[in-house]
Amino acid sequence: MEEAIVSKNFIEQIIEKDLSEGYYDTVRTRFPPEPNGYLHIGHAKSILLNYGLAKKYNGQFNMRFDDTNPTKEKTEFVDSIKEDIMWLGADWEDRLYFASDYFEQMYEAAIKLIKKGKAYVCDLTAEEIREYRGTLTTPGKDSPYRNRSIEENLQLFEEMKQDKYKDGEKVLRAKIDMSSPNINMRDPVIYRVAHMTHHNTGDKWCIYPMYDFAHPIEDAIEGITHSICTLEFEDHRPLYDWVVRELEYEKPPKQIEFAKLYLTNVITGKRYIKKLVEDGIVDGWDDPRLVSIAALRRRGFTPESIKMFVDLCGVSKANSSVDYAMLEYCVREDLKLKKSRMMAVLDPIKLIIDNYPEGQVEYLEVANNMENEELGSRKVPFSRELYIEREDFMEIPPKKYFRMFPGNEVRLMNAYFVKCESFVKDDEGNIIEVHCTYDPETKGGTSNDGRKVKGTIHWVSVEQSIKCEVRLYENIVDEEAGVYNEDGTVNVNPNSLTVLKNCYIEPSFEGAKAYDSYQFVRNGFFCIDAKDSTPENLVFNRIVSLKSSFKIN
Ligand code: ATP
Ligand code: MG
Repeated sequence: MEEAIVSKNFIEQIIEKDLSEGYYDTVRTRFPPEPNGYLHIGHAKSILLNYGLAKKYNGQFNMRFDDTNPTKEKTEFVDSIKEDIMWLGADWEDRLYFASDYFEQMYEAAIKLIKKGKAYVCDLTAEEIREYRGTLTTPGKDSPYRNRSIEENLQLFEEMKQDKYKDGEKVLRAKIDMSSPNINMRDPVIYRVAHMTHHNTGDKWCIYPMYDFAHPIEDAIEGITHSICTLEFEDHRPLYDWVVRELEYEKPPKQIEFAKLYLTNVITGKRYIKKLVEDGIVDGWDDPRLVSIAALRRRGFTPESIKMFVDLCGVSKANSSVDYAMLEYCVREDLKLKKSRMMAVLDPIKLIIDNYPEGQVEYLEVANNMENEELGSRKVPFSRELYIEREDFMEIPPKKYFRMFPGNEVRLMNAYFVKCESFVKDDEGNIIEVHCTYDPETKGGTSNDGRKVKGTIHWVSVEQSIKCEVRLYENIVDEEAGVYNEDGTVNVNPNSLTVLKNCYIEPSFEGAKAYDSYQFVRNGFFCIDAKDSTPENLVFNRIVSLKSSFKIN
């Protein structure tokens, strides 16, 4: 692991070579999302990679909305994407761009290609273009319109722009090589007629550039040096290079591909998430069971934990998937020293200390985090009636059960030793009260006479406690049954959400607000839900439990 951290990844090696050879004198990267959905953990990898490289080499990081395709884009997504990237800490400063602001330059670029004899207007239908394109094993066939004169092409392209043609009637194609082994080079379409209103340019344009043509131009205009994208674009790189070469950009950007991040047992596909939202199975794109950045934030993940996760994953050229448990490991590592360790009882039964004076309240001084003194301490009320976890008492204990059972002595965390004396059942046989006696000589949780107890349990004082709601999560997809059913629908784990409405926390949560997080001793890390929590009715999401089988070796 250490070696992986100190050695440079392959992208850094390329960048350092380019700098040392003087090919570029700076580094400029970008993150270019299409504003057609919410960002997810995979995007976070790309954002932090691009931002991190710019920082590392004292370069610049551009934020650019790739909004050249007017059908799918929504302003709502622009806002959420900006918020998510800010939250991750990838600061673009004043470098926020929209690809649609370059439509004029893209149009000029198309004219330039036509004038160089490198682009032509083609009248074939979409289907004919597909047929003419050939296959991996057979070469393509020239379009009958391939040899139109430059003048005719200029005029037809102008007419395309002037709204003389219907959608699909004519396209502009790059004139490259119909027999290239790379199908992307077989005269790809670079402009199409499309009568669509664009969220930025309105009805100004009825022709729109295709992604493979637009993207290199966007990069070149912004002076991007290293245009980092995912592996599926590897076969498009020759076209990227062709575009920037034919348009004669000086020191054009270089495309570098890396493998996408895949996580096991989560859903990242926009199509499936949309369906879960529409079917009401999740309560929005930020449902804490999802791995959109908004969902991770709401669940209680921190930017630091996501950065750590992305760093641990590394950058590679080979597709692979990473266990969700690794993300959990990262958030645990990040939170364990930063957060106060509070007492919260999620499944309460009453514990009554028969020999503790009625009406008396003691305020015990409790360290917020024993491993981090800087977090200070707080006062926790202790009294005769407490709540403890139902599972911390057993009438008939199995072997190696060291918590409460009749006759056994345990430590109440941060408080006293108590000995279980009796219990009360309701008519149905449920235990509703446990009775005990305390030893006043054991304040703070140690005895003077060297007496030891094996079990320590947490508690909250009934009278001063705050009632709250706690939500526990499991993976949203059913691991056993597989992610998808045969009909393509998502297989939802019925236990993905458990709502506990009868939980009690100590009173030290006053002023707690959305996104604040805590450790609840023995139960995990929890975060105040940003959507549903109110000061009167606090709602906590479990971020992660405390234990994990996941190990970093
Ligand atoms: P998806 O298909 O998963 O919804 P996308 O590729 O359509 O994602 P874009 O907005 O085009 O979404 O992506 C913006 C950037 O994020 C691109 O540079 C893309 O390569 C990168 N990206 C998308 N998914 C991942 C992933 N799983 N891992 C790393 N980078 C990713
Ligand atoms: Mg995409």
